[in-house]
Amino acid sequence: MKTRGCYIWAMPPIIVLFDIDGTLLRAGGAGRRSVELAIGEVLNDLDGKVSLESVEFAGRTDPWIVRTALMQYGVTADDGLIREVLRRYVAHLPRELELATAFEVLPGVPSLLAELTARDDVILGLGTGNTERAAYAKLARGGLDSFFSFGGFGSDHTDRAELLRAGLQRGLERTGAQRGTARVVVVGDTPYDVAAARAIGAQCVAVSTGGYDGAELETAGASIVVSDLNSAAVRSAFEPSSPA
Ligand SMILES: [Mg+2]
Repeated sequence: MKTRGCYIWAMPPIIVLFDIDGTLLRAGGAGRRSVELAIGEVLNDLDGKVSLESVEFAGRTDPWIVRTALMQYGVTADDGLIREVLRRYVAHLPRELELATAFEVLPGVPSLLAELTARDDVILGLGTGNTERAAYAKLARGGLDSFFSFGGFGSDHTDRAELLRAGLQRGLERTGAQRGTARVVVVGDTPYDVAAARAIGAQCVAVSTGGYDGAELETAGASIVVSDLNSAAVRSAFEPSSPA
């Protein structure tokens, strides 16, 4: 039960960490465009020619994307420069999200989040390569931000397993549970999500609404693979009796 903002857990909690891009929503190119603008500014590219079409974004963390993008332009970035690009990126993002006509919340997402929020034994968090501010900007555009109050982010770590670990730790602190008693379920759309979930001993629900198909996600070792989050099979990951 949840009372006055405090959680009293009658059973071992299930901590769920959701990826964002390709899993909950598609940002319609707003993220890529915002990074291009930010990098254009730091490179003093007045003609706006920066293009990151060849940089892989799916499953990657924002600091990784920025470092890789700068390398494409011959710049070896230190942490200070990456922070500066990310600061500019986040400043551009709300407007680019507003302009992104292809932005969409993916099928089944609002109902699944509402179902899980109503559960007494489930706590919803994020496990995303987005920086925390970018994550909430994207979620707000889709009306999904109020479902989440914690997570692990690209602003915590450039390595996906490490940011999931940070999200899990925050989830444990909120529930007061020990790692040994809580179940952890990661929901993501790329083999990187699956590998990071496995690295922290979590179950992984993989959804093929991003750039990877079901076979690739199965090969990566996902516990459950679904075509979208409307699927009844997703719910099986959250059954109280489901094995950890
Ligand atoms: Mg993703």
